[in-house]
Amino acid sequence: MSVSCIIGEDSSLKFHINDILKKKEIMEQILIENIARVSTLAKSPYNEQINDLLEISKILNDHMISDVTEIPCKRCNDKIKLRFMRLHIAKHFVNKEIKQNQNLCGYCGDIGCSIDLVVTSGKGNYSNYGPKSDCKYFRKFSIKPAEAASISYPTTNRPVICKICSQVYWSYNMAEHYNINHPQDQCPVYFSEKEASNLKSFDI
Ligand SMILES: [Zn+2]
Ligand SMILES: [Zn+2]
Ligand SMILES: [Zn+2]
Repeated sequence: MSVSCIIGEDSSLKFHINDILKKKEIMEQILIENIARVSTLAKSPYNEQINDLLEISKILNDHMISDVTEIPCKRCNDKIKLRFMRLHIAKHFVNKEIKQNQNLCGYCGDIGCSIDLVVTSGKGNYSNYGPKSDCKYFRKFSIKPAEAASISYPTTNRPVICKICSQVYWSYNMAEHYNINHPQDQCPVYFSEKEASNLKSFDI
């Protein structure tokens, strides 16, 4: 894990967390070494201490996810940096390694995370939009640049508004959304064959 992280993408509170990371690693090691031993005890003050430590560890974990934190893919278990997880999931999608579903989360590949579009800056015609989601793997990005696949980030999977029902769906899920909700209508094309083939050969 990188030792130089920023807590929260939009936080002004920036500081190095080497010390916290080290302490956390030591703490987790102690936990691993001791959990087996204490698990035989139904209830003891020691057990309560372990619970406290686990709680602290969880809080630290929740706050330490940054762009470069490696997190496990829920689909294949590979460790992927948070900033590349949307790309990694997109690759699973075009490789047809995930069953199509209109509610497939573009961040984590699971079903059930919310997705919405919100104004992040500007006003009216000059508004900039970004995603909003309760996904644990949520990461901010700007919609406008994401509409074109780049060489370093060759996916356009992003939240879009359905022109028919005005609900927000991930663009890769739109075809399935039309299949289910608007079978009489032609789904606009949201990603090209070229994007799919570039993504298939991208190493992520
Ligand atoms: Zn994966
Ligand atoms: Zn998710
Ligand atoms: Zn719709």
